Amino acid sequence: MDFSISPRISSILDHARDFMDREVNPLEQAFLADGFVAILPEVKACRARARQTGLWAAHVPETHGGGGLTLTEFAHLSEELGRSPLGHYVFNCQAPDVGNMELLMEFGTPEQQERWLQPLVAGEIRSCFTMTEPEFAGSNPVWMGTTALRDGDEYVIRGHKWFATGADGAEFAICMALTDPEHEDRYRRASMIIVPTDTDGYELIGNLSVMGHRGGDWASHGEVAYHGARVPVANLLGGEGMGFALAQSRLGPGRIHHCMRWIGVCERAFDIMCRHAVERELAPGRPLGSKQTVQQWIADSRAEIDAARLLVLNAAWRIEQEGARTARDAISLIKFSVAGTMQRVLDRAVQCLGGLGMTDDTPIAMWWAHERAARIYDGADEVHKQVVARRILRSFGLERRG
Ligand SMILES: Cc1cc2nc3c(=O)[nH]c(=O)nc-3n(C[C@H](O)[C@H](O)[C@H](O)COP(=O)(O)OP(=O)(O)OC[C@H]3O[C@@H](n4cnc5c(N)ncnc54)[C@H](O)[C@@H]3O)c2cc1C
Repeated sequence: MDFSISPRISSILDHARDFMDREVNPLEQAFLADGFVAILPEVKACRARARQTGLWAAHVPETHGGGGLTLTEFAHLSEELGRSPLGHYVFNCQAPDVGNMELLMEFGTPEQQERWLQPLVAGEIRSCFTMTEPEFAGSNPVWMGTTALRDGDEYVIRGHKWFATGADGAEFAICMALTDPEHEDRYRRASMIIVPTDTDGYELIGNLSVMGHRGGDWASHGEVAYHGARVPVANLLGGEGMGFALAQSRLGPGRIHHCMRWIGVCERAFDIMCRHAVERELAPGRPLGSKQTVQQWIADSRAEIDAARLLVLNAAWRIEQEGARTARDAISLIKFSVAGTMQRVLDRAVQCLGGLGMTDDTPIAMWWAHERAARIYDGADEVHKQVVARRILRSFGLERRG
């Protein structure tokens, strides 16, 4: 394994950093003070300029209109963009669209790709992913209430979803629903179906209030109802009964994107913490950073961030070499490990900044609140730990039960 940064990546990162400094970072204060919707016109103008950089939708192959980076190359870019809360959105590689693009590229028919993937990659539309339901534990992905039953050439979808990130303003939803609720193999009961949001019977009930914010547009999490929404069978993604398999494949590369973005968050928080430790004086000539406790926060954070990056790059490398299925333990490990690192680094940064850390003068307070979700979405910590530990223990002879 060679994780050195090639001259090509180095120049991509310089290019991205320059664009972020000139175009995106100046919007940050207004974003923190007034919210995403208030700065949407400026962000959209910024996106139009980002399209000209060659780094637009960089995870997507050039044949589909993207920047054509490999998973490992994109991982480095994702870290750089993650230093700003707006970076991924400006370059059209934000969740959940990034995962939906990957699904459409891998499993979409040519017609689905033309209708949904092309405008998504071009940034003309947005999408959402509706899987989690308020009435069922999302940690058990094969247990749900939403059904999509065949009626001639259509599916009729009924169900209730929530936490659909970016549903507000999305052009289509990918809906996970039971197409064969009685199938003997519980992993073959559900399918993914593309639902245009102007379909009769599709309802965005509203945006959830999360950590005191309802948000809007892409920066929101919607509650959605399917009241007998009818879509053509041609909107099925992959095969019938393939929903669980598709969800698994969506999550592999997705976790690399998320984790490297979180490392970008950590690096930015670390910079702010170190600068504050040097500049803030407890008394004339006695900077905060002269205190051993603060030095420990800094040393622990540096070690944990560097270790997290190596773990993620190793997982990305293994996905590229062996495929996501063989690398599944590496993928589970980074999910809970890096989310924990981010939470600890952000918490130390808040503490180091004192009252300033609670204000919106820096992005740390916003991240501290909203990135807490990293330990929950795409599989809660406990689920990943259980999955990895069970596999390890089976290799020591633990018997499979349930
Ligand atoms: C900010 C955010 C964005 C999201 N975006 C989307 C999206 O775009 N689309 C979508 O469909 N969903 C989305 N989700 C939903 C997310 O995927 C679910 O919240 C997650 O899968 C957990 O499901 P749940 O909330 O139903 O928790 P539950 O399954 O009810 O679990 C509750 C808690 O129980 C514990 N637990 C669960 N299983 C175990 C176990 N085996 N052992 C020990 N403890 C356990 C965990 O601590 C867990 O947090 C999002 C969530 C958040 C917070």
